Amino acid sequence: MQLLDGKIASKAVKEQLKQQVETLVNKGKRAPHLAAILVGTNGASETYVASKVKNCAEIGFQSTLIRLDENVDEQTLLDEIIKLNNDENIDGILVQLPLPKHISEQKIIATIDAAKDVDGFHPISAGNLMLGIPSFIPATPYGIMLMLEHYNIETKGKHAVVIGRSNIVGRPMSILLSTNNPYGNCTVTLCHSHTHNLKELCLQADIIVAALGKPEFLKADMVKDGAIIIDVGITRVEDATKKSGYSIKGDVAFDEVAEKASFITPVPGGVGLMTIAGLLKNTMRAYELREVK
Ligand code: NAD
Repeated sequence: MQLLDGKIASKAVKEQLKQQVETLVNKGKRAPHLAAILVGTNGASETYVASKVKNCAEIGFQSTLIRLDENVDEQTLLDEIIKLNNDENIDGILVQLPLPKHISEQKIIATIDAAKDVDGFHPISAGNLMLGIPSFIPATPYGIMLMLEHYNIETKGKHAVVIGRSNIVGRPMSILLSTNNPYGNCTVTLCHSHTHNLKELCLQADIIVAALGKPEFLKADMVKDGAIIIDVGITRVEDATKKSGYSIKGDVAFDEVAEKASFITPVPGGVGLMTIAGLLKNTMRAYELREVK
């Protein structure tokens, strides 16, 4: 078994971006600029946004964090987005999800200028992805593709089972793996909560992407020998032995599955780090589309 190490793969992506920024700055140009909006004080969202801001700084991107109160009304949030859309110095905009219930995520996402949609959730980005037109790819599936590329994993003709069909992970992942590109060309089965024969399908899979949000769901008896396992899950599970009071669990029972897998991502230290790499790549793309004409 070989570990698909997010620390190593994301470092390589970030190193390349850092060099690109240095080259730009040496030419007297400004650095790419990401704006993040955080509504409320959800613990996991705080952690994710802080990590995105920190990673921007590490590679020389500028970043702006806008914090809004949990009770902010929808129009105020929309106005903030419109301001960022019109700000010439902002290349990428992300609104950290989930949003409070009284705000329509769909409306918020659709209001972001599609040219600054670095999360890749805008309907235009989703449509482009489906049509195979170069676009912003949702950061997590993009990060997984970057991971496959870094480790030069052969995917052509393989059977990939994606568990979970969300708009931000499972569905775009299934499209990318089935697309005619160097790390695609798989035959893809997209599974979800209504799939009857999940275990049977997983046992046929050469590649499994587990993105359902159920800690240690995928067990060794669901995996064939030599399978490639990508664990997207991140769930906080109570853990009295930890100072924080919780530990992070993936969707894969790592120890037992690792014994059968040819390649496997750990949690933490796997897909989560690649998601940030995907976001940073999207931000550079947004910058290039606007600045390098
Ligand atoms: P979601 O809740 O939107 O979607 C979950 C999907 O799993 C649904 O499509 C559902 O049909 C399917 N599902 C649920 N139970 C199932 C079952 N028993 N069998 C088969 N399918 C089942 O979740 P999401 O936003 O796609 O996130 C999934 C997981 O990935 C979560 O743990 C989330 O925290 C994590 N996540 C991680 C990253 C990262 O950077 N690593 C990014 C996004 C999400």
